[in-house]
Amino acid sequence: MDELVYFYPEGHEAHQEAGHPERPARIETIRQWLQEAGWWDQYPHLEPLNLSMEFLSTIHTPEYLKRLEKFSGLALSLDGDTYTTRASWQLALNAAGGSAAVAGAVWRGQGQRGFALNRPPGHHATASAGMGFCLLNNIAIAAQYVLKHPLENAPNARKLAIVDLDLHHGNGTQDIFWERNDLLFISTHQSPLYPGSGSLEERGAGEGLGCTANFPLPPATGDTGYLTIMEGCILPLLDRFAPEMVLVDVGFDPHWRDPLGHLRLSAAGYGTLISRLTGWADQHCDGKIALFTEGGYDLEAGAACAQAAVAALLGQPWEDPIGPSPRPDGESWWMVYQKAREIWQLS
Ligand SMILES: [Zn+2]
Repeated sequence: MDELVYFYPEGHEAHQEAGHPERPARIETIRQWLQEAGWWDQYPHLEPLNLSMEFLSTIHTPEYLKRLEKFSGLALSLDGDTYTTRASWQLALNAAGGSAAVAGAVWRGQGQRGFALNRPPGHHATASAGMGFCLLNNIAIAAQYVLKHPLENAPNARKLAIVDLDLHHGNGTQDIFWERNDLLFISTHQSPLYPGSGSLEERGAGEGLGCTANFPLPPATGDTGYLTIMEGCILPLLDRFAPEMVLVDVGFDPHWRDPLGHLRLSAAGYGTLISRLTGWADQHCDGKIALFTEGGYDLEAGAACAQAAVAALLGQPWEDPIGPSPRPDGESWWMVYQKAREIWQLS
């Protein structure tokens, strides 16, 4: 078994728009930093799976898939934030197929851990619409692949968890799994902020009631607030749901240097969060954990968080070259923590 398997989005530079923050240098800087740390070349890089439209239609509506292909063919924007180029449709299929390949490899035991470097990103894409720089919901497709797609030499998983650590609420992923009880969706995100959803009270519906958990964090939450919520809420929720594998959406925009957010997380703090999740996976699901990139718009902060995350996956020591925020953490996250403990009856 390989210790780690990657997906790298070959050709992703063809998805770009001048001046847009979701740009190729984000992934290229991460790749360079992983290479410099000695954590890149020796691990397998998986080819994207060729997923059928029939399978993709179990996550996105057929109408949206057709619309995305058509808009990409004409290089039109889906909304004010979300551009396409003529290469975007194929690159979105590659990111979704690469994410499914990584999740499948970890699920089958081909790799102990997985890391998909995705462009275009995915977690804002709902069943019927791309938005917020996102075209296809890569992590939702990866989870669905392990839950529902016929697999060679392996049964499907019965229950998975997605933990979304991006600065922004993963509204698309929440929307897709809202009424399902085979996936626990947990999101930490700054609030208020785009896209505006993700309150403590949003907990799923129907059979999925209690399978969505949101942690809307105030600005300046910082490392201590994040770690307290990880240990006091997120890990206990994983204990309760007992997923057979953990998929982590690693937006690196909670970092204190990110231009889009104010959560004041450090790269070392980010690594600690990933090592807690990895430790949980080691104890409860044979170490099956895979990461999928989302946002992160300060190039060096994103690359430092990615290094911290890979160090955590591999259980290797790592030093944060950027360090903690020069400004102190706030304390108002405590209210969210207390309220969440109450709502979820964790005390
Ligand atoms: Zn984000």
